[in-house]
Amino acid sequence: MAAQEDAAALLDEIARREEELASLKRRLAAALASQSEPEPPVPLPPLLPKAALSRDEILRYSRQLLLPELGVRGQLLRAYDVVADCSDNVATRYLVNDACVLAGRPLVSASALRFEGQLTVYHHDGGPCYRCVFPRPPPAETVTNCSDGGVLGVVPGVLGCVQALEVLKIAAGLGPAYSGSMLLFDGLGGHFRRIRLRRRRPDCVVCGQQPTVTRLQDYEAFCGSSATDKCRALKLLSPEERISVTDYKRLLDAGAPHILLDVRPQVEVDICRLPHALHIPLSHLERRDANSLKLLGKALRNGRRDSQEGAALPVYVICKQGNDSQKAVRALQSLKAVPELDSLAVQDVVGGLMAWAAKIDGAFPQY
Ligand SMILES: [Zn+2]
Repeated sequence: MAAQEDAAALLDEIARREEELASLKRRLAAALASQSEPEPPVPLPPLLPKAALSRDEILRYSRQLLLPELGVRGQLLRAYDVVADCSDNVATRYLVNDACVLAGRPLVSASALRFEGQLTVYHHDGGPCYRCVFPRPPPAETVTNCSDGGVLGVVPGVLGCVQALEVLKIAAGLGPAYSGSMLLFDGLGGHFRRIRLRRRRPDCVVCGQQPTVTRLQDYEAFCGSSATDKCRALKLLSPEERISVTDYKRLLDAGAPHILLDVRPQVEVDICRLPHALHIPLSHLERRDANSLKLLGKALRNGRRDSQEGAALPVYVICKQGNDSQKAVRALQSLKAVPELDSLAVQDVVGGLMAWAAKIDGAFPQY
């Protein structure tokens, strides 16, 4: 009996000491984490005064938080306790993340697209930063932004409220709910899900043990995309492969035979279209959809038959803003092996239907 009591007492003692040990380990981890606070950022090279900068340079520098008049130079964040990232593009997300890590500030990040949104808290109390979770930016052409993909206004509203709640809790010392985990909101299905994120990476280039990013860098170059979702102007084609809306209108008025190929998705064509355009979505061209190629081949054959010289018709490609149309020209150029398409003369319409609405037809819907 005495032996049983001894054993029980020993088990209690072991449990107590294990708890004590775990507590010591937690305190040690916290102490080590606070030791590895990053160094202040290296000052950025001096900038020219604003008067010496072009409009494009001003836009570019202000997107990098560099404009001298803003007094920013990446150190603005030190004046604040918590930062909320509500931006709409990848380059800005890396920029704000690095600025927060370098300034030692937590970052409450939320984003939304179409019916979905996500939210997390980066760089809080030893938790991972944005680069720990996404070490490399996605290829620019794979990113769908709100300007192209759309977002239902209520969705950012939902995410924004949770984001504000997290900011207030951090500011009040209550601690966030989403450090090291991510909220996934599905507005269509009505689901809130929470997933665990990977831990802070010891080899993270900005918050790791030996960071190589010790000051803000050129994030547009790093991501290969502009720090905005509004004016991403793709420059895929040479000027000879493109036509302005004004020149296109001129040849339309002159009755020059041609084919206008609208490569937008069906959902956008349903909003508005030029009545004489042939519609084949870019995705169909890129995957060489047989029915679509047949449709294009037929249009070209008919055009050739109707034209007086029997010459191949020029094809003008149009989309919403003049980016997808350039990709479509490249896709069409790669189809030269297809009969009827071998002597294809193809150009894209610069600025697309939005340029048409702005410069040619003020009544054409803008969306
Ligand atoms: Zn990190």
